[in-house]
Order: sequence, then structure tokens, then C-alpha cells
Amino acid sequence: MSTDNLAQLLGEWRGEFLPRRARLIKPPPVGLCKPSDPGFRWSRDRAGVFVAEPLSAGNYTPVPVVDTVVARVTAVDLDDADEVHTLVGEWGLFGATARRAERRSMTTLRWDSVSLTRRELREFRLLARWLAAMKAGRWRSKDVPDYDALQVLVDWIPYPKRKTRLVYWEAFALALNQKIRPVLPMFGQSDRGIPRTLMFSATLLDAMYLRLGDQMSTKAQTARLCLGCRGVFFVSVGNDKRIYCSTRCKNRVNVARHRRKMRQKSDTRDGGQV
Ligand SMILES: [Zn+2]
Repeated sequence: MSTDNLAQLLGEWRGEFLPRRARLIKPPPVGLCKPSDPGFRWSRDRAGVFVAEPLSAGNYTPVPVVDTVVARVTAVDLDDADEVHTLVGEWGLFGATARRAERRSMTTLRWDSVSLTRRELREFRLLARWLAAMKAGRWRSKDVPDYDALQVLVDWIPYPKRKTRLVYWEAFALALNQKIRPVLPMFGQSDRGIPRTLMFSATLLDAMYLRLGDQMSTKAQTARLCLGCRGVFFVSVGNDKRIYCSTRCKNRVNVARHRRKMRQKSDTRDGGQV
């Protein structure tokens, strides 16, 4: 199932328009701190806050590009503050704070906590890699949580005495459910002329989790780890040729290989002159 099918299944899946760029402010501006409101605790984040650039150039809806985002998030070193910073600079806010806020406000859509972003992305990566391993049949991979870890991840395990693959799939679905937030259908005008169901995913993380659910429920696609960046990407079953998440990764690896060859050549040449 492609993202097109998902859009069909859910009606027209638009996703909010997200500002493409964001920058880091450290420490958070004083004006953001409202200690009385628990929803704003993040604004005292010492790691700083990300602020979205004003809605103008480069706004996008996440649905058509969600696979690229998933590959990037599962590839970067989330312990490296600079890499996370670059990632957010590239895709804008992930909406870690907005997902937790009880009320949506312009503030939570424009600002995001750095610490929360890293924590949410770590949790997403765990689920994405777990799903990828199960889809590819890599059951012995460290990406599949062991049985003790399962009990921490989900509140309730179906058939606790049995450790079958079915139980793991079911546990994954439960873990995903804990991350999925209700999406409110709305009705409105579409390109096709008559009003229809419109589904809005409010944040980039919402769109990413919905994509995992989409992948969980199809056997038409499998998941691989990119040979270049080790990020998770999805590919049609039977497509054995695709081993990179993107042409960018493919080109990067090929260029590196070419350079290595050239270096070896010149090394042997230099060696011959001595
Ligand atoms: Zn890659």
C-alpha cells in the first residue's frame, strides 16, 4: 500500500501545512515561560527550543514525503545534538510538544522543546526499527524487543504465556496505539468539486506514526535498512534491486567508492615510483 492508498482509506489526508525550516534558540526566551501552565513546562528546557520560521516559503504537507522523513529519522544519531538540529532545520518542527499539549495553540505549533523532540524521535525510531525487523523476518535482530522489554513497552500483552510471532505483531499494534492520537475527520471542499472527508494530521510525528500503521497492515511492502545510511525504508515485496533509501544515498555511496578506488590507484602508482 502506498501513501496514496492510505489517503484513499482515510479520505483526503492533507496534514497541516508545516513550516519547512526551524532554528534553535538556547536558552528559551523568557517570554515563553509560563510556570503556572503545565503545558508550557517545556519552555524551561535548558537544551533550548526550536522555533519554526514564519509560514511562508517552503511550507509542505507531510504525506507525500513521509517515507523520506522516516528514513532520515531512523538514520541519524539522536544522541548527537548537532545532527538533531540539522534534522529539524531540514524538516521543521516534529511537534513533540504539540502532541502532548491538551489544547492546541499557536505557541505549541510554533515552538518545540529540544529535549522532548529527541525523546519522541527516539521512541519513534524504536518502533520503526522493530516494525522493519518483523516485516523483513529478522526475528533475531536486536531491533525486536525481547520478552521482558515488551512488558515495559506495552501495558498488556495478549496471551502472555505464548511467545509466538502473532503475539509480537499484536504487541506492536498496542505499542503503536499508545502513540496514535485521535484524528478528527472534517468535511470540506476537495479538488474533485464535491465536499468529502478530510483528515488532518496535525504534526509531522502524527503523520510518521500513521505511516507505521499503514505499513503494519500491508503485506505488499517490506522494510529494509539502507546500505548507505542504515535508515529504514519501505519497498514493494519482490523488488530486490532497491538497496538504498534514496538516490541521494546511492550517489553518496557510489562517489565514496569511486574516490576510494582512485586513491588506491594513485597509491599503487606512487608505490611503483619509489
Ligand atoms: Zn539511506
